Amino acid sequence: DYCYGGYHPVQVGDVFNKRYKVLSKLGWGYFSTVWLCIDLRSGRHVAVKVLKSGAGFTQAGQDELTLLRCASGPTARNPLKDRIVQLLDEFKIAGVNGIHICLVLELLGPDLRCWQVCFGNPGLSLTCVKHVITQVLEGLAYLHSHCKIIHTDIKPENILLCVTPQSSSHPPGDATQTYSTAIKTTLLQDPEAPRNLDNITVKIADLGSSCWVYKHFCQEIQTRQYRSLEVLLGSEYGPPADIWSVACLAFELVTGDSLFEPKAGPNFSLEEGDLRRIAVLRPWGLYEVLVEKYHLLLREASVFSDFLLQMLDFLPERRATAAQCLKHPWLKL
Ligand code: ADP
Ligand code: MG
Repeated sequence: DYCYGGYHPVQVGDVFNKRYKVLSKLGWGYFSTVWLCIDLRSGRHVAVKVLKSGAGFTQAGQDELTLLRCASGPTARNPLKDRIVQLLDEFKIAGVNGIHICLVLELLGPDLRCWQVCFGNPGLSLTCVKHVITQVLEGLAYLHSHCKIIHTDIKPENILLCVTPQSSSHPPGDATQTYSTAIKTTLLQDPEAPRNLDNITVKIADLGSSCWVYKHFCQEIQTRQYRSLEVLLGSEYGPPADIWSVACLAFELVTGDSLFEPKAGPNFSLEEGDLRRIAVLRPWGLYEVLVEKYHLLLREASVFSDFLLQMLDFLPERRATAAQCLKHPWLKL
């Protein structure tokens, strides 16, 4: 991937745009590598996302920039913008592999998937899950209604924790330990961490595959396990597709298991209202699953299944909106 049109080769100690000095690698994705940098002007730590340089990536990068500029930055005044990772600056690098768009983002902690790996499954207390889901819904209410943006990729990897490690565990310039390792170490050394983190703050990140409510870039959106029914069926989608993913996310954070495990291949289709190639269906209601398999208390199971089912309505237009979900009693229970 480090070839023409691909990733830009980066070394610890490099200075981007005469301003952002690279301390270590934070992560990478299909589109980019992401670096922990120190802003030499303000002394602040930031994350710099360096996109691949190929034509398709440059277009995708421009789209990501436009979406991020709309959702964050000093011009957005809505306080809920803080539920979305903030864009601080942007620049381009001309490197050996081409021209790379770079996004300077506020520095966040590890994602929720790392968390599950850290603390074992499911790992988060119910109180903590409710805080996380509330903040994700607030972020989506803002994206959907205020920005007219569909995130299209809500999943644990794209929900980042706002925690910063003790400065001693990550002296600037120490490249032997990655930033997320430093945070994990900090969290794991604290036996009270899971409970202390009941008041955790999270943000929605990665607008790299997001689109406008009225302008889509791609027909097949979302990661398989979080993919809404309308997208699986190749039908029209809108903001309700994100709400479906939130239901999958909430179920997974509470139980440690995926709600759906759709398999690739033509083993599922609908024709004239009938399910094809499924000989026997053994329905097991969500409430019963929560009680019998996951041993939730009856009241908790009843309110939680009600919360989830309003987000899993087969008809996107009947699905609860983010603002409606935020009023649900499960979040206050
Ligand atoms: P891609 O579009 O290539 O998938 P992402 O935006 O998902 O890129 O970033 C890739 C990885 O980099 C993330 O999974 C995360 O580990 C890390 N990362 C991204 N943004 C930040 C940030 N603001 N702070 C800390 N880590 C980040
Ligand atoms: Mg990503």
